[in-house]
Amino acid sequence: MSQPNQPGIAVPVIEASDLTKTYHLGNQQIQALRGVSIRLNRGEFASVMGPSGSGKSTLMHLLGCLDTPGSGSYFLEGEDVGRMGSRDLARIRNERIGFVFQTFNLLPQFNALQNVCLPFLYKRNGDGAAERGQAALESVGLADRAKHRPSELSGGERQRVAIARALVTDPAIILADEPTGNLDSETGNDVMDLLARLVGDGLTLVVVTHNPNIARLADSIYHMDDGRMLGSGDPR
Ligand code: ADP
Ligand code: MG
Repeated sequence: MSQPNQPGIAVPVIEASDLTKTYHLGNQQIQALRGVSIRLNRGEFASVMGPSGSGKSTLMHLLGCLDTPGSGSYFLEGEDVGRMGSRDLARIRNERIGFVFQTFNLLPQFNALQNVCLPFLYKRNGDGAAERGQAALESVGLADRAKHRPSELSGGERQRVAIARALVTDPAIILADEPTGNLDSETGNDVMDLLARLVGDGLTLVVVTHNPNIARLADSIYHMDDGRMLGSGDPR
């Protein structure tokens, strides 16, 4: 059993220091991150704000092990991500990290339950996948939509399916990049209430948002500009 509140034992879930990232586009170099640090504990909810192009999605990709930094270090649950091989990285992405994207990223030919069970497709041990998928759908209030394809669901329901998919492996972290960006404000609020409730279960949640009302739900707000972290603050 982990004891997150016991001093001296808790290891930050996310400890990233001085991350840089430069994209090479033809002969152009774009410095998307110029030395960004962020440290989050278990059960913490952080929001990341900043103008378009400031590097928010790039940071999320690095934290999600979808991409590697040019320099800097990243420890995830105490493990040095920079020293991991591709197989370990794939395992971490699949089992420890859940992603929620603005555009939902559901596969149109699969129904809701099949979409939620996708993470198990990449694992050898898919035992109980359907039951776990169904339980995840239930946790987002969509038990009765398991057989619906994405086209037969509303935007808010699609995003809840995506949240169920992010949860199904029982990850340590949920990374949500503008999860309410394609939803009307009422539906967006419902989705955010759902995400915020998950944090209570000991998950660490990072949400990129332009919406100050959503950012205020978080324990801390990080502000980015031009590839830099301007600082963080308590929103309340
Ligand atoms: P944000 O999510 O804050 O809008 P991004 O992290 O997407 O910002 O982008 C940061 C900068 O990096 C922008 O200038 C963007 O144009 C550039 N960028 C992002 N992804 C790529 C890529 N794959 N190739 C080249 N440049 C990119
Ligand atoms: Mg972005």
